[in-house]
Amino acid sequence: MSVFFAERNKTLEPYTPGEQPREQKYIKLNTNESPFEPAHLVKEYVACAGEQLQLYSDPTLGPLVKEAAEYYKVNENELIFTNGSDEILNFAVMAFAEELRFPDITYGFYPVYANLYHLPYKEVPVKDDFTIDVENYFGNDGMIILANPNAITGIALTVEDIRKVLEQNPNHVVLVDEAYVDFGGESCVPLIKEYNNLLVAQTFSKSRSMAGARLGVGIGNKKLIEDLNTIKFSTNPYNVNTMTMWAGIGALREQEYFEKNCRVISENRSWLKEQLEKRNFTLTPSKANFVLAKSDAIQGMVLYEKLKEKGILVRHFGKKRIKDYIRITIGSKEQMRCLVTAIDEILGERT
Ligand code: PMP
Repeated sequence: MSVFFAERNKTLEPYTPGEQPREQKYIKLNTNESPFEPAHLVKEYVACAGEQLQLYSDPTLGPLVKEAAEYYKVNENELIFTNGSDEILNFAVMAFAEELRFPDITYGFYPVYANLYHLPYKEVPVKDDFTIDVENYFGNDGMIILANPNAITGIALTVEDIRKVLEQNPNHVVLVDEAYVDFGGESCVPLIKEYNNLLVAQTFSKSRSMAGARLGVGIGNKKLIEDLNTIKFSTNPYNVNTMTMWAGIGALREQEYFEKNCRVISENRSWLKEQLEKRNFTLTPSKANFVLAKSDAIQGMVLYEKLKEKGILVRHFGKKRIKDYIRITIGSKEQMRCLVTAIDEILGERT
């Protein structure tokens, strides 16, 4: 830490992203990326956009907003695009939070934002089976963030449950983080017409294979979007670059490719679940592009390390309630077969 680091930042504990090793080629099942390439049009449009880079990007992102409004069946002023969905989370906390509530097992960035802005926050324990009891979110104790499906567990809430949370918190923004919704969850986007306190965040990183492009979107009542734009124009008006804007348009125009990839991921998830259960693993009922799994035969950390030795990266979290588990991103069928073979070898060595 330098002597210049402001006093207010000295206690910051930054988010630790999953490993992104470049030195060795791993089967990468640790950061919930897509195993599939971006759509054709994404690549084509990015190449064209490269020719306009002497100009600033469009701060209103007009062509993308127009395309997305049709896709999400909302008005153009009910959308805002950001540099990854992490940025919409950041903007939303900056814009709306005085206090925060979110589950104790969820996306690790939420407490980081709370600390960054020195906001008090409550981590509400999920039940023993990792499901969320929405009644714990009734009552006016600040902004709520719910990942749906939830991060790390993949367990989804119903839209009716979210509706209850919205109704019980009319004076606070409820941010529903739908980073993984396309793999089997139910989106709350249609509810933005009914609830002025709902903000939905989605990302192009996972289901649209664009993690490296960094594109996220916020969808909500036009007043919320107006506030988020005030934050955006007070921090970084050109937050989405021209190549990424066009990549987003390309992705939205190749709906069939997107749907097929989501279908394959969900099939591969069922296959992996079956294989792991045959080997006595316990899994959460995930609707996301990952599963959280544990075996009584081997500790989570040890399995993570042994898989890494075999060239397969998964994610292990040190947090007490989930330290016995590993989180595995659902990849291609071939990747899933390699994983199961590696697990068999590891478990075989121990018997
Ligand atoms: N929300 C959740 C629940 C996530 O797991 C992630 C990815 N780590 C994000 C948001 C952010 O994704 P991105 O910034 O790539 O859109």
